[in-house]
Amino acid sequence: MTTIIETKDLVKNYGTKSVLQSINLSVQAGEVVALLGPSGSGKSTLLRCLNGLESTTSGTILFNGQLVKQTEKSWQQLRPKIGMVFQSYDLFPNQTVLENVTIGPVKVQKRAKKEVQLQAIEWLTRVGLKEQIDSYPRELSGGQKQRVAIVRSLCMNPELMLFDEVTASLDPENVREVLEVILELAKTDKTLLIVTHEMEFARLVSDRIIFMADGQIVEEGATKQFFEAPETERAYQFLRSLDFANL
Ligand code: ADP
Ligand code: MG
Repeated sequence: MTTIIETKDLVKNYGTKSVLQSINLSVQAGEVVALLGPSGSGKSTLLRCLNGLESTTSGTILFNGQLVKQTEKSWQQLRPKIGMVFQSYDLFPNQTVLENVTIGPVKVQKRAKKEVQLQAIEWLTRVGLKEQIDSYPRELSGGQKQRVAIVRSLCMNPELMLFDEVTASLDPENVREVLEVILELAKTDKTLLIVTHEMEFARLVSDRIIFMADGQIVEEGATKQFFEAPETERAYQFLRSLDFANL
């Protein structure tokens, strides 16, 4: 197995506040990992450290076995390989759907426009947005905009995709269509690390669970094991608080 990303004793402090305490994780190529945990446990901070949006206090990150230097230059080279989709989609309002998803590959990766457009149209079709290719973001629902944001990330051909509560700001009727797109991606060979509060989705989509609380990884293991028989009291209480412990 190839390890795509790995952290060793990753620590993040904000001033005197300790937000991540000695995080050791690894994600293998093709794996789908759900990162769960109560609000404030450090999930978003961890994802942000993993793509260099946040500096680390100490510890190391390895990408494809290579130590990542904590410099802006090294992150600039690496970032196109790590796609990130957030709660807010931040599409360019004055660009069409097709322009929004092709601008990164063309401008940043210097790829041929035609090739990128073909790839973009294929993905947009697969996620049910064929009719919206020439639409502007304001003409789309929240769920449609989030699907565009996922395609935008996909068109960069990332080696790892990070999802941070991508359905948290959507109306309930839009949540499902976005989760279905991620479920489809999970069936491909893509490597995904997904933060979500949707437990049923996490159970369906992931091979493995990493459960965090108070800035630490408290428990990790196979998805089925985690949901059916969590090993720690903290994980059990978390699932129970979401009416998800069948005990
Ligand atoms: P989660 O995504 O699991 O809800 P976060 O990573 O957003 O957790 O936050 C973890 C902790 O770090 C929280 O206590 C939060 O208040 C704190 N935190 C996050 N960002 C900052 C920041 N820029 N400055 C200070 N504290 C922060
Ligand atoms: Mg968060």
